[in-house]
Amino acid sequence: RNWAESKLTIELLKVVERAGYNNPSPIQMAAILLGLQQRDVIGVAETGSGKTASFVLPLLTYITKLPPLNEENGPYAVVMPPTRELAQQIENETVKFAHYLCIKVVSIVCGQSIEEQGSKIRQDCEVVIAIPGGLLDCLKRCYCVLNQCNYVVLNEADRMIDMGLEPQVAGVLDAMPSSNMKPENREEELDEKKLY
Ligand code: AMP
Repeated sequence: RNWAESKLTIELLKVVERAGYNNPSPIQMAAILLGLQQRDVIGVAETGSGKTASFVLPLLTYITKLPPLNEENGPYAVVMPPTRELAQQIENETVKFAHYLCIKVVSIVCGQSIEEQGSKIRQDCEVVIAIPGGLLDCLKRCYCVLNQCNYVVLNEADRMIDMGLEPQVAGVLDAMPSSNMKPENREEELDEKKLY
């Protein structure tokens, strides 16, 4: 398989090439095709399979089609992993592509006060990567609003449930516009083992 088959825009294909990703992995090939159609996707794949880029590339494509953010009306998309360490890893992977597109990404990571986190989020960022509890805290303190946010990624959702984070996830989802629950968005299960 090659990237040209992934249906990414020319702009994104160039970004992927500049990041040095020669060929898409199986989960990337499958998830990107669906993600670009803005379908709800459940992706299941091993660690190290390239899962992060499989949700990051459709997310960034979506943002490139939106108007630039005005002050304090972002973010456009939220990624929630179960731990701050994972948030940092996802940020590193996202920035590889996002900086070529001038898309601003912020993660709420270890060792920062809630005030520092809040001021980072307020600086017109299009993508926020945060653990559910941290993001909920920022929402409660009015450090950010999600009324322009119609794109959400739950990273390692099974682990978040095991860790009892469901109430916090639900709290964040409640702050997003309900119009994103389009009936035509069907869930599609992508299990790496069944792809080939
Ligand atoms: P992940 O499974 O998302 O944690 O990715 C594991 C590692 O593989 C990361 O360091 C990525 O930067 C790298 N990676 C992901 N997709 C590709 C690809 N298509 N080509 C080369 N490296 C990749």
